[in-house]
Amino acid sequence: MTEQNETWNVLVVDDEENIRLAVERILTKIGCRVFKAADGQEALQVVKSEDIALVILDLKMPGMDGLEVQRQIQEIDETVLVIIITGYATIETAIEAMRQGAYDFIPKPFETDHLRFVVRRALQIFYLQRERERLAEESRKTLFDLSTEKSRTRTIMEALPNGVMVTNNQGQIVLMNQAVKNQFNLDNECSIGNYIQDYVCDSGLCNFVQETIQQADCPSDDIPTYELEAANGSDLLVEARPILGEEGSYLGSVFIFVDISAIKQLDRLKSEFVAKVSHELRSPLSTIHEQMALVIQDMLEQASSGRDQQILSRAQEKTKGLISLVEDLLDLSRLEAGAAFQEIKPVRIDTLLEEIVQGFDSQAEHNRQSLKLTKQDREYPPVEADEKALESVFNNLIGNALKYTPEGGDIEVVLQSLEDNLEIRIKDNGFGISERDQERIFERFYRVKDDKTRFIGGTGLGLPIVKGMLDDLNGSISVESELNKGSTFIVKLPVGSETKEEG
Ligand code: ADP
Repeated sequence: MTEQNETWNVLVVDDEENIRLAVERILTKIGCRVFKAADGQEALQVVKSEDIALVILDLKMPGMDGLEVQRQIQEIDETVLVIIITGYATIETAIEAMRQGAYDFIPKPFETDHLRFVVRRALQIFYLQRERERLAEESRKTLFDLSTEKSRTRTIMEALPNGVMVTNNQGQIVLMNQAVKNQFNLDNECSIGNYIQDYVCDSGLCNFVQETIQQADCPSDDIPTYELEAANGSDLLVEARPILGEEGSYLGSVFIFVDISAIKQLDRLKSEFVAKVSHELRSPLSTIHEQMALVIQDMLEQASSGRDQQILSRAQEKTKGLISLVEDLLDLSRLEAGAAFQEIKPVRIDTLLEEIVQGFDSQAEHNRQSLKLTKQDREYPPVEADEKALESVFNNLIGNALKYTPEGGDIEVVLQSLEDNLEIRIKDNGFGISERDQERIFERFYRVKDDKTRFIGGTGLGLPIVKGMLDDLNGSISVESELNKGSTFIVKLPVGSETKEEG
């Protein structure tokens, strides 16, 4: 909107009617809406009731004089502009009016063009003044909105029970709520612009933050997470999410610190419960198993009915399955409790493998399978580990190779020394595992159920236990397999400084 296309309200105050009419005629032609007042009182009424932009005011009037009218108009609305019209006799009063804040004065008698010129200029000034005020008000409002929005966001962040930390794309912290400060016992005043390592000494968390920022350019659907124990003793799960700009550019990351102490406690209780129940079940089950063996032996000697023997043998098989489930559950509980390794000492892996393979000889012979250990003619460096745990790893893997290979198949265990680890391959030419199942066989209770494996007993806990133990030893396990061709499980065990130091 400009002064050109807006209709401005102008008030003419003069006791002479012909002047009022003349001004009205001239200003109506330039688009003004003209109000008229014959004296001061009338003028003040109009200023109060109408939105007047400009007053053309005669100084010399009966009753209230022009100077007083001007003063009172300015009291009512200081933005109204006043132009004085005066005869030469009152020029000094006109100067006084200017001092009092009048915008301009026009001596009487005035020329039409002169009046138009002065009024147009005054209206322009009025317009600019109004615009300036409007913009100032708008900017005040925007600033107010911004600060309310900012304080609202801050209030919400502070009220969140989870810790929230935001970093820029350089890893500098730009926001950190009170929950994070409490979790890490940080000073309330800790300033932004620093890095996580300036506040937290958990090197795992610092690396996690660093890696999240470095890998932000390769987005993935997985939400990276990290678990740690906070300074205030609670268990935390940290989740990282990237903040992307409009064109997908990486601006920074949000880290959410979720307190999972209650879940962890529940998990510990569950593990304790499973461990206790498994422990209590193991002895009576073993006793039942042994006593059944005795009864079956007696039956054989007394040539009892074949049907009875069959029933008992099946029951004995089932008890064996139960014992192996209980043992797996106990292994799992020990792993979860971090107690899978009870006695760490140097283990000669070649000797251990020889003993284990020998232990499976009779089973292999019974299945008419060939089972052999291939190793280099050299001395292998020892592995620092709990011998029982390693025994459990290879018993599981070699046992599986025999179990999932049909009669007449070949199983080979190959031991090799690589640069800084030992590699043990357990190869079979059995049923093999499909690619889809290869991704899942290390999950707890996952068993492949197809025509060939459906009737083979097992718990689905062997491989997760093996993986858990190898992880704890800083080792690894992987599988290469093809359906109906066979599988190779590859175990790598670190030797020397890489080996696990503590139990
Ligand atoms: P379980 O043998 O008790 O079922 P595991 O965790 O040891 O449990 O193995 C999980 C699954 O992986 C098995 O059910 C089996 O289908 C598959 N698997 C393991 N080892 C082999 C192997 N050598 N050949 C083929 N399949 C195997």
